[in-house]
Amino acid sequence: MDRRKIVAGNWKMNLDRAKARELAAAVAARAGEAAATELVLCPPAPYLDTVATALGSAGGSSPSGVALGAQNMHDKASGAFTGEVAAPMLLDVGCRYVILGHSERRTLFGETDKIVNAKAKAALAAGLMPIVCVGETLEEREGGRTEAVVTTQVNGSLAGLTASDLEKTVVAYEPVWAIGTGKVATPQQAQDVHALIRALLGKLASPTLAARVRIQYGGSVKPDNAADLASQPDIDGALVGGASLKADDFLGIAAAFGRHPA
Ligand code: PEP
Repeated sequence: MDRRKIVAGNWKMNLDRAKARELAAAVAARAGEAAATELVLCPPAPYLDTVATALGSAGGSSPSGVALGAQNMHDKASGAFTGEVAAPMLLDVGCRYVILGHSERRTLFGETDKIVNAKAKAALAAGLMPIVCVGETLEEREGGRTEAVVTTQVNGSLAGLTASDLEKTVVAYEPVWAIGTGKVATPQQAQDVHALIRALLGKLASPTLAARVRIQYGGSVKPDNAADLASQPDIDGALVGGASLKADDFLGIAAAFGRHPA
């Protein structure tokens, strides 16, 4: 089992160019505080190039060790899709990762598992590593449907991916009720769903392959709750929203995960 912890910051539609540059530079300069953890920054699309330069990743590999990721992409490689961004473009500006199927994309922009699946295949074909998000709503959890919902999302979003594709894929379990609410899942609640996701990956490919796929938890992760989450055997990192906008908090979370190597 070789799963380096991975902590990604989803900046969402926040910051301006100067602040994006400043935050990326601060994380790059202090990445050594969380050296055991792979770090990824996902700024808004217009600032990808600025952040790539701040991380030194404009050519694809970053001397700071901090990787660049996008928050979304289209599944076609080019064409008449006004306002959209293609995977080869993301690669061109230095991205290694792309977040796909975030609950905000699913809820506010109608992204289905089928769309997420098409995007994941396009990302992988272009050479990007997808961070595929899944997670249940509060109503679904309270109705006892967490397992069914997550199973459908995992199987639908990752359908048809080869073992080699899955190995490059990160799955983010983000219970919708925990995103931006300050209500974090308990370490046991998160671990239970992560174990389920790993079992599903085992069926999609093989248990050996599933043991190599990294599964992040996302939903109100902060420096003071990261250590308990990181101590769980199937939690391989975090996808961080609000707390990723402060270098201290983001690095504090990453350092907590680094203290729990796989
Ligand atoms: C997210 O949007 O992916 C997220 C986990 O947000 P927050 O950390 O703010 O809950």
